Amino acid sequence: MEFTLDEMREHLAALEARISEACKIADRSRESVKLVWVSKFHPAEAVENAIALGATDFGENRVQEAELKFSEPRMAKDGSRVRCHVIGPVQSNKLKKAAIVADCIHSIASVEALEKLEKVCAALPGNGAAASQGKILDILFQVNAGEEETKSGLDVHEAEAFLESLAVRGETAFPHLRFRGLMTIGKNTGVAEDSRECFAFLRNLQQKFLAKGGAFAHFDQLSMGMTGDLEVAIEEGSTMIRVGTALFGERDYSKPVNDPA
Ligand SMILES: *Cc1c(COP(=O)(O)O)cnc(C)c1O
Repeated sequence: MEFTLDEMREHLAALEARISEACKIADRSRESVKLVWVSKFHPAEAVENAIALGATDFGENRVQEAELKFSEPRMAKDGSRVRCHVIGPVQSNKLKKAAIVADCIHSIASVEALEKLEKVCAALPGNGAAASQGKILDILFQVNAGEEETKSGLDVHEAEAFLESLAVRGETAFPHLRFRGLMTIGKNTGVAEDSRECFAFLRNLQQKFLAKGGAFAHFDQLSMGMTGDLEVAIEEGSTMIRVGTALFGERDYSKPVNDPA
């Protein structure tokens, strides 16, 4: 059962209290943490309710589901265009569709994916004042810093060398891709504190590359923290928390949104 608008409003208020408390403890402003509403497995009506409550940014982990909900431009309450974040791993043959629907992809972990995205984005219509030709796409690199058992993301021991190889190629190598920062999924132990170390690792790596400038001049984002560990992530510097369950309720994995049944 999906939440009603009133139920979602209550969940949002409870979540905002958690975020505010964590910001207070970390001596950070609420504005320094973006809330990405993870709407995967929830229908378009849930997205509409979220927009009515002020949501501006949504996360989807499957490209097909993102297309269903976000191909048509939607306006947020603040007058901006709603942004779609692709947060799950994207197969090579889905990268083009991902580049079209997404404003930001959080899960890039190979130079092959970057090369394909660059080609695709160069041929898309412009999406900003500075881009009359080609779409500028925000890119985050996923680092497998917490979830050892899955294979998504850069190996934690190889992430720095990978980023260094991009720094060497310079800022002209991928003119339509804007490297914005790093993403990780914390340790799935049920204990938020267990993720602190991997969140801190991510922040150190992000800070190191931001300081290099060049291709990393815009590398100021850390996508980390979910329903179970967002406080620790905020304390460790997260600028984007990806929250699903605390806003939309439990996902029903037996009912995929793209299944017309
Ligand atoms: C599903 C998902 C989330 C949201 O998780 P919740 O625990 O429901 O908040 C965040 N990030 C990624 C990459 C996800 O796939």
